[in-house]
Amino acid sequence: MSDTIAALSTPLAPGGIGVIRISGDDAIAVADKVIKTTSGKPLTSLKGYTAAHGKAYDGEELLDECVALVFRAPKSYTGEDTVEISCHGGVLVTSKVLRAALNAGARAAEGGEFTKRAFLNGKMDLSEAEAVMSLISAKGEGGMKAALTALDGALSKKIDAYCNILISAAANMAAWVDYPDDEIPDLDFDVLRISLNEVYEGLDGLLCKFDAGKALTDGIETAIVGKPNVGKSALMNMLSGFRRSIVTDIAGTTRDVIEETVRVGRVILNLADTAGIRESEDAVESIGVELAKKKIEKAGLILAVFDVSRGLDESDDEILELCKGREVIGVINKTDLPRKADIEKIKAGIKEVIFTSALKGDGEKELSDAIERALGTDKIDTSQAMLTTERQRRSAEKALSSIKEAIDAVDMGMTMDAVNVCIDSAIECLLELTGKKAREAVVDEVFSQFCVGK
Ligand code: GDP
Repeated sequence: MSDTIAALSTPLAPGGIGVIRISGDDAIAVADKVIKTTSGKPLTSLKGYTAAHGKAYDGEELLDECVALVFRAPKSYTGEDTVEISCHGGVLVTSKVLRAALNAGARAAEGGEFTKRAFLNGKMDLSEAEAVMSLISAKGEGGMKAALTALDGALSKKIDAYCNILISAAANMAAWVDYPDDEIPDLDFDVLRISLNEVYEGLDGLLCKFDAGKALTDGIETAIVGKPNVGKSALMNMLSGFRRSIVTDIAGTTRDVIEETVRVGRVILNLADTAGIRESEDAVESIGVELAKKKIEKAGLILAVFDVSRGLDESDDEILELCKGREVIGVINKTDLPRKADIEKIKAGIKEVIFTSALKGDGEKELSDAIERALGTDKIDTSQAMLTTERQRRSAEKALSSIKEAIDAVDMGMTMDAVNVCIDSAIECLLELTGKKAREAVVDEVFSQFCVGK
C-alpha cells in the first residue's frame, strides 16, 4: 500500500503547459475527482497509457481545460498508478489544479519522492536515480551525456559485474573453508588474485576519472589570477561571452570576487574573477586580494594571466610562486601588442602556457584545449560508465581499499577467513553504491537533493 502523492512537475512559472503529477494506489481515483472527461468516461475506466481530454474542477469551481494521461502500475515512472494532468502553464492555474488534487485526497509530495518510489519499486537503482538528478541539473553537453549514460545503467552494469566477480570468489573460498575434506579442487590463488586485480583496476580506473568527470558535470572551481591590469576581467568576459566584470585602465578595479559559471568546450568552469594578486595599501583592495588568495587555495584549476606587453615584475613572480604544484594554465595575454615579457621564465614555472588577446577574442580554442588537457577531460568518453556523485566516489573508494586489503592478505598468506572478510566488505560497499543494499540514511541523503515534483 502506498499513499497517494501529488506535485507540480514543471516549474512554477508562466509557460505553455504545466504538469501536475499524481502517484500512488488512489492516484486514478483522486484524479477522477478533479477531471470531468469530455467523453464522459471516468478516468478510473481507462487503460494505462491513455490520454483523456477534459476539464479540471476543484469541487464546483471550474479551473482549466486539460489533458489527463493515465498510467497503470507497474508501467509508469514510479511503478505505481499515476496520472499526469497537463493544464495551461500559469502560476495560478497550476497551483489551483494541484490544490484540487490535494483536496481530493492526495498528499503533497516531498522533494524527489516520485523518483524515490521508482527506486523502491525497482524501476531504477540508486546510481540511476542520481543520474536523473544530474540530467535535470546538467549545465553542459558533457554532463548531460554522462547523465544519460548513467541513466541507461552503464555504471550499475559495471558495478554489478564487479560484485559478481567478488561474490563468486567469496563463494569459492567459503566452500573451500567450510568443506576442506570434500572433493573441492584446491583454491587457485592465481585465479583469486586475477579476479581481485580485475575489480581493483576497474574501480581504480573509475576513481581516477572522477575529478575530470566532475569538471564535465558540476564544473570545476577556477581562479583567474594575475596582477592588476593584465586582462583578467577581459579574459573572464571573453569566456562568459558578455561584459560581466568591470574592465578599466585603473589598476586594481576588480575588487570583489565575481562568481560566474561558463562553459569552455565540454568543461564547466565555476569562475571566480579575482582581485589582482598584489600587496596593497588600499583597504578595500586588500580584502579583494585576501579573497583571491583564498580562492586560489580552493581552486581546482588556476588560470594565471600575464601581460605580454610589459616586462615581468615581482607581482608576476609571486603569482608564479603561488601556482607551484597546482593545476595551472599560464595565459599570456595582450598578444595584439608588442612582446616585452620574458615568456621563457613563465614557461619555466608553468608547464601549460597559451597565448590570448582577450581584447580581440583570440586564443579561446587554445585555452579550451589546454583546459581539457590539464583536467584530463579530453580522455573522458561520456558514453562509458563514470562515477558522477561524491556518494558514489566514497563507496567505490571504500570498496577499493577493502580489495587492496584482500590482495595484501592473499599475498601475505593470511587465513582465508581474513581474505573473505575483506571481500565481503568490498561487496557491501558496491551494493551500497548501486543501492541494492543501501542503508535508509543513504537513500534519504540521495533523494533529499531532489526538487519537488521529480
Ligand atoms: P585586470 O585588472 O587584470 O582585470 O585587467 P582588465 O581586464 O581590467 O584589463 C585592463 C586593461 O587592459 C583594459 O583597458 C583592457 O581593455 C586591456 N586589455 C585586456 N586584455 C587585452 C588584450 O588582450 N589586448 C589589449 N591590447 N588590451 C587588453
